Amino acid sequence: MRIEEDLKLDFQDVLIRPKRSTLTSRSEVDISREFVFRHSGRRYHGVPIIAANMDTVGSFEMARALARHRLATALHKHYDEAALAAFFGELADDVTVFYSMGITREDYDKFHRVKEAAGNAISCVCVDVANGYTKSFVDFLHTLRAAYPAITIMAGNVVTGEMAEELILDGADIVKVGIGPGSVCTTRKMTGVGYPQLSAIIECADAAHGLGGLICADGGCTSAGDLAKAFGGGADFVMLGGMLAGHDECMGEIVAENGERKMRFYGMSSRAAMDRHAGGVAPYRASEGKEVLLDCRGPVDATVQEILGGVRSACTYVGAHKLRELSKRTTFVRVARQLNNVFGQS
Ligand code: 5GP
Repeated sequence: MRIEEDLKLDFQDVLIRPKRSTLTSRSEVDISREFVFRHSGRRYHGVPIIAANMDTVGSFEMARALARHRLATALHKHYDEAALAAFFGELADDVTVFYSMGITREDYDKFHRVKEAAGNAISCVCVDVANGYTKSFVDFLHTLRAAYPAITIMAGNVVTGEMAEELILDGADIVKVGIGPGSVCTTRKMTGVGYPQLSAIIECADAAHGLGGLICADGGCTSAGDLAKAFGGGADFVMLGGMLAGHDECMGEIVAENGERKMRFYGMSSRAAMDRHAGGVAPYRASEGKEVLLDCRGPVDATVQEILGGVRSACTYVGAHKLRELSKRTTFVRVARQLNNVFGQS
């Protein structure tokens, strides 16, 4: 047994210190990013926020709505092949949508068939497992990269620099970072495993950038300020589940609670998800997600505007003309936990 004594931080442990700025208005801030992916060589230009591949967030409807704001979507993996092929087949070139998959033979074969049926229109893939430290995950990544050299691969999840480096070297263009911070995730409670998300972002970004790779901060954002902290910490992309949940585009099940309309939102490892997609929780495993009922929030457009407005404003506070500059201009100040509680941040 070993104890690491270094302090590790979550979003609520810090604030961004304001800096002198020559910006006069938020409208002057460019919050899009341009990248050329390390392995696929493909160009990306958009607002680097991605809807999570959860079955009540990463829907076709969400992808269409977010594309109007130049945001990306990782589709959930439970659509059938015909629906996926039709969707990707009619996707415009400048829209970023990730096809999501696990690491079984079945996942691999399904992807191959959908890609063929969609006329090879799929350019981005999200390979998603709860624990990105397994050999089978790394082996799968090698196989996928060898078979599809020109596809942009986002892979995860991991939380440490050395594993981010390994995934980049194994073929990932983007490493997905986050174990346990999700709004409907119970991994930390059920297993005791996890890593404070802001430190995970800072350490993985540093490691990935050193090799020409990118990272996507996945989970734990509850406000636009958290996105600003994630980008400030070095995230190239930020993935959102809970912040985009409860909208019309989620296509979630509506239920009544005390006479009010609510939408079901649940973790992809929750009992609710396993009942729906896997015929129940297998006897050897426990659920690592929970279900919540959310207020119905209407169309996602207003939420997107609020998020983008917050990130723009963060840039003006530190004098970043472009989102690209935010990380360089970020100094975090640590906030004492007691103050956190006083100001209701925790
Ligand atoms: P949020 O933005 O809601 O805080 O986090 C979204 C992320 O939570 C997802 O992208 C995914 O990585 C993670 N997640 C979703 N469902 C589950 C689950 O059931 N268990 C765990 N451990 N993580 C989940």
